[in-house]
Amino acid sequence: MEALGAQRLLQCWDGARAEHPLRRALVLLDAAWPEVGAARWGALPLGARDARLIALHEALFGPALETRVDCPACGAELETPLSTSELATPPAPADDPPPLVADGIAVEWRLPTSDDLLAVLEADDVADVADVADDGTADDAAGRLLARCVRAARHGDVLLAPQELPEPLIERLQQAMAERDPGADLRIALACPACGQAFERRFDIGSHLFGALDDWAERLLDEVHALASAYGWSEAEILALPAARRRHYLARIQA
Ligand SMILES: [Zn+2]
Repeated sequence: MEALGAQRLLQCWDGARAEHPLRRALVLLDAAWPEVGAARWGALPLGARDARLIALHEALFGPALETRVDCPACGAELETPLSTSELATPPAPADDPPPLVADGIAVEWRLPTSDDLLAVLEADDVADVADVADDGTADDAAGRLLARCVRAARHGDVLLAPQELPEPLIERLQQAMAERDPGADLRIALACPACGQAFERRFDIGSHLFGALDDWAERLLDEVHALASAYGWSEAEILALPAARRRHYLARIQA
């Protein structure tokens, strides 16, 4: 990973803001590791993508992750300090998974990637398969995601379409996917200090990282504004300063 300068990171933030949240994560990964190639990021299993996003968070903002969650029982707001090390999961094996065989049906499958999620979710203009659980489109989106990941399904000599697979087999396939790539669905265990309720939440490192970048960019623009106002320097000149030097000048203005 190359060291991302303030100028480059700000450009990334600018360019990614208007994008779908899934695409934002890919933009950041491509900026951090351009040698990998943009297309490769979209084709990674989700756990591998998230492991890189966790590493990028560590490199840019350190290992501390602040999470703010409302308790589902009493509504109290929980601020839970979390470390990136708590999100570590075993990586998915790189080879093709073994076919899933049940009830005489053999399914060849692969793990979902960001490209799959984008293809399914951008059409619906939603951020996440799990976000739409209440309005009926979730089943549809999850079904389309699964269909993309079924390479072939056979009952004896008969080829089956993914839509023809029985529900129990689909559930087993989803379970097999989750077991093979545990990092694809990061979860954190929480306990409410106000009422004692224990609960679990999904943790989306991509949106968390972009939120941290958002905060960083806002602070940086404040600094640019203050320094430009005081010294008449251009934005490019200010962004080219090392962060520590910017802070020294800021301290002098604010003194
Ligand atoms: Zn509570």
